[in-house]
Amino acid sequence: MKQSLVDALVEHLNAEFESYYIYLSMSGYFDSESWDGFASWMALQAEEEREHAMKFYQHLLQRGVNPKLLSIAEPKNGWESPVKAFEDALEHEKLITSKIEKLMDLAIEERDHGLQNLLRWFIDEQIEEESTVGNIVDRIQRVAGDAKGLMLLDTELGARKATGL
Ligand code: MG
Repeated sequence: MKQSLVDALVEHLNAEFESYYIYLSMSGYFDSESWDGFASWMALQAEEEREHAMKFYQHLLQRGVNPKLLSIAEPKNGWESPVKAFEDALEHEKLITSKIEKLMDLAIEERDHGLQNLLRWFIDEQIEEESTVGNIVDRIQRVAGDAKGLMLLDTELGARKATGL
């Protein structure tokens, strides 16, 4: 595997672990404010990000690379409101999408077909992530000032199951 691709993948592996950290921190924030459903939803989201990181990690191993693990940036520890947290999550997913698209550009440029295959899965996954989180943002913004509405959404999101990722 070309060194330029290894470097880009090591950096992206770190970005996926950073996503895990951010969502874990959001889950902690929700839990501390007794938004138990949001906390549970976000904990599952965090776990999904760890799985994404491991997909890149395994790919590097399969390609004969010992993946360098970089320091993970410290995430925010609190948010102004559940709305703000979900808005941040959507912004973060858009950032990850742009990173994956840049990786794909690089994989095409370097004619690395195996990596392109892996990235195709992630491109589909990002469409799903942006759609899911975007939908939650729309709905949470609609009920932002209404405690009852927020509680209904909290209960609904709390029903997310690990298998429904
Ligand atoms: Mg991800």
